Amino acid sequence: MEKKKSEGKKLEKDLSYKKENFFVVSSDEKIKAAFDYAEDYKKYIDHSKTEREAVKASVALCKEKGYKEYRFGDELKAGGRYYYNNRGKSLAVFKIGTANVGKDGIRILASHIDSPRLDIKQNPLYEDSSMAFLKTHYYGGIKKYQWTAIPLALHGTVALKNGKTVDIAIGEGENDPVFYVNDLLPHLSREQYSKNLSQAIDGETLNVLVGGLPFKDDDVKDAIKLTVLKHLHDDFGMCESDFLSAELCVVPAFNARDIGFDRALIGAYGHDDRVCSYPALTALLNEKDDEHTVLVVLADKEEIGSEGNTGMQCKVYEDIIDIIAASQNQPSALVRANSVCLSADVTAGYDPNFAGVFEKKNASLVSYGTSICKFTGSGGKGGSNDASAELCGRVRKIFDDNKIVWQTAELGKVDAGGGGTVAKFIAKLNIDTIDIGVPVISMHAPYEVISKGDLYSTYEAFAAFIR
Ligand code: MN
Ligand code: MN
Repeated sequence: MEKKKSEGKKLEKDLSYKKENFFVVSSDEKIKAAFDYAEDYKKYIDHSKTEREAVKASVALCKEKGYKEYRFGDELKAGGRYYYNNRGKSLAVFKIGTANVGKDGIRILASHIDSPRLDIKQNPLYEDSSMAFLKTHYYGGIKKYQWTAIPLALHGTVALKNGKTVDIAIGEGENDPVFYVNDLLPHLSREQYSKNLSQAIDGETLNVLVGGLPFKDDDVKDAIKLTVLKHLHDDFGMCESDFLSAELCVVPAFNARDIGFDRALIGAYGHDDRVCSYPALTALLNEKDDEHTVLVVLADKEEIGSEGNTGMQCKVYEDIIDIIAASQNQPSALVRANSVCLSADVTAGYDPNFAGVFEKKNASLVSYGTSICKFTGSGGKGGSNDASAELCGRVRKIFDDNKIVWQTAELGKVDAGGGGTVAKFIAKLNIDTIDIGVPVISMHAPYEVISKGDLYSTYEAFAAFIR
């Protein structure tokens, strides 16, 4: 009887699947490595609040590791390490392997560096009732009510009428002013309370408060607006018409901080998707081996459908694959057919406070490691890439062989909603592609939460994948 009991336990262990918490199964050394890695990540995202800033921060890391800027027409050499800067808004970082790229293919990690925010309109500045405002059009899927009554920073680039461009970042320094979107006091919110969440704040009320000091001259009609214009002119050489050729973004003014007594979690703006971009980039930059060809894409515009010439649907990424193939006289079709891509984007972490929208058995749990998402999409896998069993098996074996803490993910309950990412655009090139990423709590909120264990296991997973 005793014997049978322990046999059952062994059989259960051998046959059953159970996912594991990174902090439970990892050694103290590994947990320390995860915490150390998180410190570097926090620095990276604090300097990467827009895609342009993420490109700058990433290029700086590339240069530190001896990567050289590639321009179309340049020659690629085996063992060479390069980055291609696409208009300052997206980046392709790659190393050319010594192995035959036709046979070996390219190991691709694709993530995005844009995040939901408020974009300033082209003719935005006005004053009303002793306050000056900038009008905005939100970018990506935000819950509008979350962006009111918090400190905001202004970042972006302005093409001035004199032909020069100027970069702006206000609200990050300790002594910088910040900006603000007004909300209604509870005392007068009876009507607002009766609206549903998506309607409680109207898109046209997301106006950013930028001033309140009138220019002292009785002949001036909009004296507060003029004070704001004078600041913009004195500090950046801007006139009002320069807003017409500007990309200015309003983002949360707060920086990344550890969350909780034990500091296991990190709160920050824009984890989606820099929490996958940073592991993808650093996995490549830290890889010393010359054998395999690896491509890391940090794309723009994912939050609005991967459109435009900096989004993942742009042909430039295919062009780079063509050029890598040509550098070894291999047909691009063969290279693509033998390539594999991890589409690195965040997933929804299971939140017990909102348990109703998840199916716990298939949801990704915070701290249970990097999350493979076989399919995304919504309403019957609509719009999903849906990776094959064979590809899941191949990736799973790499992770298990390298003792990576990983789990599977599903973006919410069937019929609860859903979403998609860049995977399908890479898969279209005849490249085996699967979604993977870090579970996020409060995704798309001004302050999102992730686990240091998931961040680090994602880094380890990417490093194992490209090795
Ligand atoms: Mn994303
Ligand atoms: Mn997103």
